Amino acid sequence: MCDADCAASARPTGVTMTSTSAAAFWETIACPVCGGTSFSPRFRLRFSEFASDLSKVNLKLIGCTPDTVFDYSECASCSFVTTNPRLTSSANETFYNSFKAPYTDNISTELGSPGSTVSSAHRTSKMIRTFRDLQLAIALCGRRVTGARRTDGPIRMLDYGSGHGYMLQLARTFGLEAAGVELSQSRIDLCRSMGLKVGSREEILDSKFDIVISQSVIEHVNDLNRYLQDIAGALDKGGIFICNGLTPQTVPIEQRRGRYKLTHPISHLNLMNRRNLQTLLEKHGFRIPGRRELWDRLREGSWSIYMRAPYAIYGAIMVDGADIQAIAIKT
Ligand SMILES: [Zn+2]
Repeated sequence: MCDADCAASARPTGVTMTSTSAAAFWETIACPVCGGTSFSPRFRLRFSEFASDLSKVNLKLIGCTPDTVFDYSECASCSFVTTNPRLTSSANETFYNSFKAPYTDNISTELGSPGSTVSSAHRTSKMIRTFRDLQLAIALCGRRVTGARRTDGPIRMLDYGSGHGYMLQLARTFGLEAAGVELSQSRIDLCRSMGLKVGSREEILDSKFDIVISQSVIEHVNDLNRYLQDIAGALDKGGIFICNGLTPQTVPIEQRRGRYKLTHPISHLNLMNRRNLQTLLEKHGFRIPGRRELWDRLREGSWSIYMRAPYAIYGAIMVDGADIQAIAIKT
């Protein structure tokens, strides 16, 4: 990895490219948070630095070489950090379908069987997060469900980016009415074979939900505003949204470690800070509950003082190194 000051002359593609065939794979976006158009490179990486096994990748399919430089660029107005310029959504899809999906669509890989690319520590932390987010959302929306407006029927939960359906299986054991939105057809098929309700955004987003959870999705999405529009539209007034993603600290943290797992400007486009995430959520009709409200709601949700204390201390948007998570309420 090199920093933003490293020789711009080394950049073979991107904004300075001259080949029209390469240009078809790239686009420059306006800031999805504030609409600003002035960006400057914050972290600059060559493809060969962040992609661990280029031998499996036919780079010509996405107009790249091992020396292609990707910039995590920072918006001059609001400091939002995102890959810009970036691969177009169709080039990004090609990258996913050709190179990433064959690994991630393999359920045995996800579950950490021999040869897995997912460590058991990573898998355990994902399971803990899933369990906690589900319990948190249920506790937070408890007042609505037991209150005057909705006393009948189970809580309706949407997992936006439901992957292999772990969250949905857990939600089912909790007695929730759960559905998932998923991009990958093979994962949709896998979930359906387990009796889970999963489909494309067009298939699922007609319904309304009490809870939307979206784990480790926000860093991937090409169109942040459409993503949040989808979620805001799927929630009833007062509904709970819980998400988590990556911060700009991801890059220096991994730089210090000398290995790049999360730092991947093709897969992980959006690195959010607290202010950016709050602005985006508020723009789409969410409010961020205060510490006192979190404390009261979780107490009403029968959470012990020890379990609710972190939320009352750190608030609804928590940042911990590379990780950011948020609780928001649909207004
Ligand atoms: Zn901006």
